[in-house]
Amino acid sequence: MSKAFQAIKGMNDCLPEMSPIWQHLEACIRQVVSSYGYSEIRTPIVENTQLFCRSIGEVTDIVEKEMYTFVDKGEDSLTMRPEGTAACVRAGIQNGLLYNQQQRLWYMGPMFRREKPQKGRYRQFHQFGAESFGFNGPDIDAELIALTARLWKTLGFADDVELQLNSLGSNQAREAYKALLVEYFTENFELLDEDSQRRLKSNPLRILDSKNPALKELISAAPKLTEHLDEESKRHFTLLCEKLEQLDIAYVINPTLVRGLDYYNRTVFEWVTSSLGAQGTICAGGRYDGLVEQLGGQATPGCGFAMGLERIILLLEQQSDLSAKLSLPVDVYICTLGETAEAAGGVYIEKLRDSYPLIKFQQHCGGGNFKKQLKKADKSSAKIALILGDDEIKNQAVGIKFLREDKQQITLSQSDLIEQLSQIL
Ligand code: ATP
Ligand code: MG
Repeated sequence: MSKAFQAIKGMNDCLPEMSPIWQHLEACIRQVVSSYGYSEIRTPIVENTQLFCRSIGEVTDIVEKEMYTFVDKGEDSLTMRPEGTAACVRAGIQNGLLYNQQQRLWYMGPMFRREKPQKGRYRQFHQFGAESFGFNGPDIDAELIALTARLWKTLGFADDVELQLNSLGSNQAREAYKALLVEYFTENFELLDEDSQRRLKSNPLRILDSKNPALKELISAAPKLTEHLDEESKRHFTLLCEKLEQLDIAYVINPTLVRGLDYYNRTVFEWVTSSLGAQGTICAGGRYDGLVEQLGGQATPGCGFAMGLERIILLLEQQSDLSAKLSLPVDVYICTLGETAEAAGGVYIEKLRDSYPLIKFQQHCGGGNFKKQLKKADKSSAKIALILGDDEIKNQAVGIKFLREDKQQITLSQSDLIEQLSQIL
């Protein structure tokens, strides 16, 4: 026998036992985005490599180390998307969705980054994100944050997450600040790790985003971006904070929050939790007013966020009441004995499906006596088993056995059950 294949490291199957949790999360997301009037956009998994280099930035973890890039049979360098914003902007420009318009978009799907797989960090992972285009004011920043806050409430872990907020200011203000930062880190060059020493030349702001605990003190003593903001950005940030207070959304200002992608300006934010160990950021976003123009469109302000669904699933799995919120794969199991009953049962179950399109029916296949069939029914998630033997068929009746309640089996006429099934369940 040849060796069985294994999935690629860091790329996981979603097995049937996990899919109810994913479906629950996805349903909550769809419900929340539609309650804010956002429209879904779906873009391809693969894009031109340059799209990501130009938007995310050459000197970022993603572009330097994490992209799945390949040359296809032609000569094009293609990349499996590591995030969703660049493609949204590309699609928006290409299809004329952005110029002189306002858009509120959302997407959900797999992303790919070649990182070291560990809990909450995978090579194929899933993100839900929202992007807004054409809005300058802090009202949209607040709306996007309110949308995420509502999702935590809907999912039932609003108390386990904290909103961290910062402003990166305008590009000019950031350049001036960068000079101060370079001066500070140059004075402390020996204390920096190799990555940060390199970044001091190529992209000094990135040092603030370092995950190396040995640098924590040095970073927290660095000059603060928030103290060097331009007046307009300062006003934008103050107004955003006021709006969040009006909406009763608690936040913490984190002056070292810079985000791992180069396209951000002004508002940046992250939702973090202490319940997941090292992979504590479940959602991150901010404003990217220069990106549309940088990718070849007319200057259009943008603001958005993305969240990692695997990390949210890990949080959901910690909930003690989770199973009550999940939809089960089977509600009604049908047992039939003998060929006549099996055929009649098949016709009857289709009638039930006509009347109850949202109820999940499963008919026993593969024969066997009632005892064996009921065992299968019990193993499924069904609440009731419908019993159709020769007697029932002869009398146009159906037996109903309650699988999860201590209740006597009952018999109804087949037509009565079609009327009463939803009350019985
Ligand atoms: P991190 O600092 O954890 O590497 P990031 O800054 O690279 O995150 P973003 O690019 O901002 O992450 O992506 C938004 C969100 O997507 C993250 O907050 C996280 O929840 C999730 N995410 C990012 N990379 C991964 C991954 N490899 N596996 C699972 N989720 C991820
Ligand atoms: Mg990362």
